[in-house]
Amino acid sequence: MNAGLTNMTALVTGGSRGIGAAIARRLAADGARVAITYISGADAAARVVKEIESAGGEAIAIQADAADAKAVTAAVEQTVSTFGRLDILVNNTGTLIPKPFEETTLEEMDRVIGINLRGVFVATQAALKHLKAGGRIITIGSCVGERNMNMIPALATYAATKGAVKMFTQSLSREVALRGITVNNIQPGPIDTDRNPAAGDWAAPQIANTALKRFGHVDDVAALAAFVAGPEADYITGASLTVDGGTNA
Ligand code: NDP
Repeated sequence: MNAGLTNMTALVTGGSRGIGAAIARRLAADGARVAITYISGADAAARVVKEIESAGGEAIAIQADAADAKAVTAAVEQTVSTFGRLDILVNNTGTLIPKPFEETTLEEMDRVIGINLRGVFVATQAALKHLKAGGRIITIGSCVGERNMNMIPALATYAATKGAVKMFTQSLSREVALRGITVNNIQPGPIDTDRNPAAGDWAAPQIANTALKRFGHVDDVAALAAFVAGPEADYITGASLTVDGGTNA
């Protein structure tokens, strides 16, 4: 932990639980004021805010479905109106509807694309109106955005959105580089969360595919996000950085 993010403001989408909550807590511990969004977990979001406040930080929680462009844009604006500025956007929200591709309905495809991809576009566009030199856009992709080791059946739609986020990161990094804004993609492997529990049905094949033979912890991802958000990562942009225990090695 360090104070490298003092006076910075961060918005972490999907920050009430799992990886997003860990990133929010870590950015706050490093000195940032933090806004988090959630969809239905108001109590969990309030707990994250309370934890940050109890540790001496500042945080707010905003209900905003990542698939709802108006709500996402309003969340960015509320962050800026509350804290006066925006320096770091962490596009963390992501969803997965595990079904063989041939059985996936158009509505299910639209939901996954709407949250994992369109939601990232909308939040990033809204944030870019406020980001200044030193600004950071960080998206949480996935190791399956690069390679599918067949750990979990039926990932085609999800993996496609995570691959798209990787190329979005690379392309956007070139568009905004001269404004001093970096754009990076963090690609977790198996991380123990409500959505992907280390004791869940899909755990064994995921563990088998890691080099380290274990799940990762949400704080492993948060530590990398905090580094990328900080001033020492000034020369890292357009990168997809894996935290996957060697899954894609
Ligand atoms: P969780 O399901 O544990 O947490 C999801 C968080 O996102 C919650 O805070 C949830 O809020 C929020 N959320 C869900 N849907 C929406 C929505 N439509 N709009 C706004 N917020 C929403 O997920 P993880 O922490 O496991 O995953 C976080 C990110 O990391 C995702 O992008 C995922 O794809 C990626 N990832 C995760 C891996 C893993 O092994 N865990 C591996 C690779 C990538 P609420 O409390 O309201 O439900």
